[in-house]
Amino acid sequence: MLLESGVHCIEVATPFRVGPVNVYLIDDDPLTLIDTGPNWGSALESLERGLNEIGVGVGNLGLVLLTHQHIDHVGLAGLVSRRSGAEVGGLDILADYLVDYDASAAADDAMREATMCRHGIDPAIAALLRSTSATTSRWGASIVITSRLRPGDKVVLRDRSLRVLARSGHSPTDTIFVDEAAGFAFGGDHLLSGISSNALVDRILGGEDAPSDRRAPSLLNYRESLRKTQELDLRVVFGGHGPPVLDPDALIRKRLAHQDARALEFLEHLESGPLTAWELALRHWGKIAEQQPFLTMSEVLGHLDLLIAAERVVEHVDRDPVLFQITGSEIIGR
Ligand SMILES: [Zn+2]
Repeated sequence: MLLESGVHCIEVATPFRVGPVNVYLIDDDPLTLIDTGPNWGSALESLERGLNEIGVGVGNLGLVLLTHQHIDHVGLAGLVSRRSGAEVGGLDILADYLVDYDASAAADDAMREATMCRHGIDPAIAALLRSTSATTSRWGASIVITSRLRPGDKVVLRDRSLRVLARSGHSPTDTIFVDEAAGFAFGGDHLLSGISSNALVDRILGGEDAPSDRRAPSLLNYRESLRKTQELDLRVVFGGHGPPVLDPDALIRKRLAHQDARALEFLEHLESGPLTAWELALRHWGKIAEQQPFLTMSEVLGHLDLLIAAERVVEHVDRDPVLFQITGSEIIGR
């Protein structure tokens, strides 16, 4: 589908619940692809079909740019670059993450499992998380990023240039590629029209001394990233799933307001006394928390970070599991 002069969207199949992923082809020199889809036969088929409809093939690609570490977006990048000889461009922290995908995914799993246990989740449910992750990770693959980008860099093509901006939150490596002259961005999963992007429990990446076992304040980072994007005053954002975001400013305001409202809901749950993050998840979602422990705990911990930053909640890290309580209230009977 042609979206703008020289910009096409190809829907690539994924085996995941999110449905197809949007891959963008920029008809320029070099011929450029934004994301690739997962490492999956049906994904490759739909990518090839989409490229053929535009009149090109995988072999014609000269550059592949990657928006973030999630495998529905980047799993196929290694294969695509091997077949085409295309350069692969991405943030330097993404390059470090993807060079040994299995090791990075294992480090993510270990940190997430430890975090969940520290926050009161049943260890059996935490172990289940690890096995689910092992099953999904086979749609990922290691990728060598040949063109390591830094925030603020410009990718210069024949007809347009793209500003590379870091937007951590949904993942630590989220990146948007902005065509400043045309007023649009390729946003990956940073801002999606149909679904609110999850700010997931993730490690802090980047730098030699980044603590590998510490949790990033994903939702706080995400909100800061949304505000930075809001300042760009973009006309449209081409997201990684669903239709383009046609009024980025309005959608960002809506997303921020929704997060504020949800944080207040968690605050209400704490009015009856201190709770662990897992107790909060169960109180808020019931059975859904048990079915989707990782997503619901990411939500709870993210919004607790927000409440802690606003000095509405305090976190007792000396407790096992960690307890959260409303600022100034007493811990009674725990
Ligand atoms: Zn994603």
